[in-house]
Amino acid sequence: MKRPMIARNAALFAVLLLCLCAQAQQKLSGQRAYTFTKQFVEGSGPRWLGSPGHTKAENILRKHFAPEKAKGHFGEDAFTVNTSLGTFVMRNFIAKYPGKKDGIIVIATHYETNIWLRDTGFVGANDGGATTGLLMELGTYLRTHPPQGYSIWLLFDDGEESMQRQWNDNEALYGTRHAAARWSADGTLNKIKAFIVTDMIGDKDLNLNLDDNSTPWLRDILRQAAKNTGHSGSVFKRPIAVVDDHIPFKERGVPVLDMIDLDYGQPSFSHPEGWHHTPQDTMDKVSAHSLQISADLLLETIHLIDKR
Ligand SMILES: [Zn+2]
Repeated sequence: MKRPMIARNAALFAVLLLCLCAQAQQKLSGQRAYTFTKQFVEGSGPRWLGSPGHTKAENILRKHFAPEKAKGHFGEDAFTVNTSLGTFVMRNFIAKYPGKKDGIIVIATHYETNIWLRDTGFVGANDGGATTGLLMELGTYLRTHPPQGYSIWLLFDDGEESMQRQWNDNEALYGTRHAAARWSADGTLNKIKAFIVTDMIGDKDLNLNLDDNSTPWLRDILRQAAKNTGHSGSVFKRPIAVVDDHIPFKERGVPVLDMIDLDYGQPSFSHPEGWHHTPQDTMDKVSAHSLQISADLLLETIHLIDKR
């Protein structure tokens, strides 16, 4: 009688383990977002335009979204750009998760690092890295939790950073300008209910800025999302007008929201912007806890847009 007993216990244990695993997958996980961030940042390293790291970053995205690609829901859009530093092929990657309502919510992040920081070993753990990891986790989550409201498109865009140290509007935001023009031409733009940019929201000391360039009703939704998830202490401490990937869509009349925390590290005389755009932007400044807050805010923001 002993053996079957063990077999039954083993079976029960297996069922319990399955339940626990299924439960673990229920959540959009900051810990998994952190792991994806680490894999992406360490697997690609500095990934400025034209570098081997840039190709590695592209390959990590292709591999991660292979299940979406198999369904015809993952694509890449290559385009050539002439800049003051030469001609570059840039690539946007788009993963699509069909929803039940007519309309699309786009969630974007840039994934490349600054070309003018190419000799410094800059890896952009928080700047580009953390939100790439966060959106990789969101994609994983959406595989088993398809959108119940609007369709969700994840956009990993290229060429966000300015080509020059001094920000230059004409030599930055290449990927989103390209996407906005393309989606304007093919009619997609009319279906976009909200274009949400995520940027620099994995840092340990997290507080999302109140961005003056974001659409007021979307800022209200983010405020409400923070309230609903118990994260009011992590938003809107400092108002600021941010120039980021949402601008090309704002200029075409799409409702936009920039989920960004530009206050990163302690500003000093030699580093007036703290760790922003310095080689100190490394994985030790990023935390799973902050990525969980950002994940909660993002998911609740999507829910509130769906309900609107
Ligand atoms: Zn940057």
